[in-house]
Amino acid sequence: MPSSSSSTRFVGAQLRLYPNRWQADYFQRCVDAQRALWNDMLKASRNHQRRTGKYFDRRQLEQFVKAWKAETPGALEMPATALYRVAGDMGQAFSNWKRKRREGHRAGHYPRFRSRYGRQTGIYQLNREIRLQPGRVRMLKVGWMRWRGGDLPVGKVMSGRVWLDAGGRWMLSLVYECAMPRPAPATVPKVGIALGGSALATLHDGAAFATVAAAETSDRTLRRLRRLDRLMGRTETRCGTCGHRMERREWQRLGEQGKRNAPCGHPLPVYVESKRYHRLKERRAILWRKERLRRRDHVHKATTPIVKVAGEIVAGRVAADGRAVADSSGEFLRQLGYKAAWHQRQFVGVTRDEELEAQCAKCGETAENDEESGWRCRQCGHTAATSENLAVNLYHYEGEGADATGMD
Ligand SMILES: [Zn+2]
Ligand SMILES: [Zn+2]
Repeated sequence: MPSSSSSTRFVGAQLRLYPNRWQADYFQRCVDAQRALWNDMLKASRNHQRRTGKYFDRRQLEQFVKAWKAETPGALEMPATALYRVAGDMGQAFSNWKRKRREGHRAGHYPRFRSRYGRQTGIYQLNREIRLQPGRVRMLKVGWMRWRGGDLPVGKVMSGRVWLDAGGRWMLSLVYECAMPRPAPATVPKVGIALGGSALATLHDGAAFATVAAAETSDRTLRRLRRLDRLMGRTETRCGTCGHRMERREWQRLGEQGKRNAPCGHPLPVYVESKRYHRLKERRAILWRKERLRRRDHVHKATTPIVKVAGEIVAGRVAADGRAVADSSGEFLRQLGYKAAWHQRQFVGVTRDEELEAQCAKCGETAENDEESGWRCRQCGHTAATSENLAVNLYHYEGEGADATGMD
């Protein structure tokens, strides 16, 4: 999400809000109004399509909001930006939906508020409507309320978005405009970084190696995830036609076996999951989100010091790494890329390069990767970890890089 122009950069921050009863009710009414608006607008747009062959365009969506606001009780007390945002979101949702259909995907039903957009949208507030102080924030129409959530960036608040997370907590996402950090002189001229292999990252500065370990998921979290999976498997699914019930895992197993029909004779897709299943799924999503944030934080703590000391950074991923790309190496590269720009460091991202990886860091010959665990040169007998060998090669790499965001 961070982007930058030459003198400033945009930084996101997220806080948890503690609204009082009235404020929480107000937020809830705003979200309800957005949902009602979404549904009304969708209906109107479809009617329009039946008559004219075309859905509402952006201008018509905005006109609809204006008229809706005037005739809907209570709509006027909602922040106008929050309502107009729904028009913008629907315009976006429709163009995505139409593009998918053009590309021949099964686009399914019309964009529904509940599905995705309800989560992404929120009550938008402009910078002049937000006053932020340590521990409390004032917003349009709701006044002051408490917040918690770590250190905030130093800069100017550009906009804020109040939204309800999957666990029923009110959150405030802020976008800050911040000054570029004053670049400190680099203390290490160049660093080669290999991502993946035995560690999350292996660094070489021409003399020594350093590694960044991957953020391990705690046993406790793994246990909780497994438990939720188990519980979800045991919830009941119900046939939408005849009401026949079976455990979700049984239903899933039939699907995996390629069966088309359930024992009751009706097709498997008509089965519906229980409320309990959806509750458990939300709990799982919350747990995963925390875990993702924790991993991202781990990567932040590793990338910032590198960018602060290194004048030039050359990074690439271990190609022979057979693991699924569930690690944080993509995030690591992304952060290195934009932080390097902030700190005015030279950054070269090297796309997965088998040749570079196969080259012996000692004698320069091309050698095969002999062992599972490491790297061995057939020419000179040099052995190293695959990631260490690559880190040295990256350190000496002189070519052009790929765009860090386009790398896989
Ligand atoms: Zn049935
Ligand atoms: Zn060699």
